Amino acid sequence: MTPKFHGEQEAHCVDTDLPTVVSLRSDRLRIYDITPPITPQLKVWPGDTPPERQVRLDMAQGDNITLSTLRTTVHAGAHADAPSHYGVDAASIENCPLETYLGPCQVVRIEAPRKTRITPQMIEDEIHAPRVLLSTGTFPNSEELSTDFAAISPELVNSFADAGVVLIGIDTPSVDLFDSKELPAHKAFLARGILILEGLRLADVPPGTYELIALPLPLVGFDGSPVRAVLRG
Ligand SMILES: [Zn+2]
Repeated sequence: MTPKFHGEQEAHCVDTDLPTVVSLRSDRLRIYDITPPITPQLKVWPGDTPPERQVRLDMAQGDNITLSTLRTTVHAGAHADAPSHYGVDAASIENCPLETYLGPCQVVRIEAPRKTRITPQMIEDEIHAPRVLLSTGTFPNSEELSTDFAAISPELVNSFADAGVVLIGIDTPSVDLFDSKELPAHKAFLARGILILEGLRLADVPPGTYELIALPLPLVGFDGSPVRAVLRG
């Protein structure tokens, strides 16, 4: 157990004194926002729909409220892939269990060469959390589509699955290589029942153990959802 969890247990034990609970948490825990900003410049997969804000009403123009519509791929920036994105008749996003996206999480930094798949041999840290975020540094700018980012090998998915991991996240737009058509990593995730987060912003997060909070919206029938992903620890 890390001090973080001790802190939370103490906080829960403080009897119905909400302000004390809040101050205990903010004193001890730092929040890392690992979500890139959602703007029209955010790079999405070629052919996919970038975020667009359509203003329906605008107080600056004399309307009584400001009201806008968001049009975007659900795979914009930090997002959860639903299994239905890469498997016929597989679960859509509203059926993915929320507890998978919430809880102890380990951030691992890997010196991954560009355009290669991360293998189990490249993981130097001992994995001790059921959620693992891979910080590759190979997709440093969310407003630029660099296509030579690193990806995940099916062997890594299998070895994490064997260790009890339920979710793997990565700081690139895909768990497979950019030009992969066969999508062997996605297929391994499907076969092992592990869920995926993509497009995370991990450059400023030191490797270590955190609490992950990255909840997808209940978009019924959809193949994914944007998430506001944060790490607390
Ligand atoms: Zn995706």
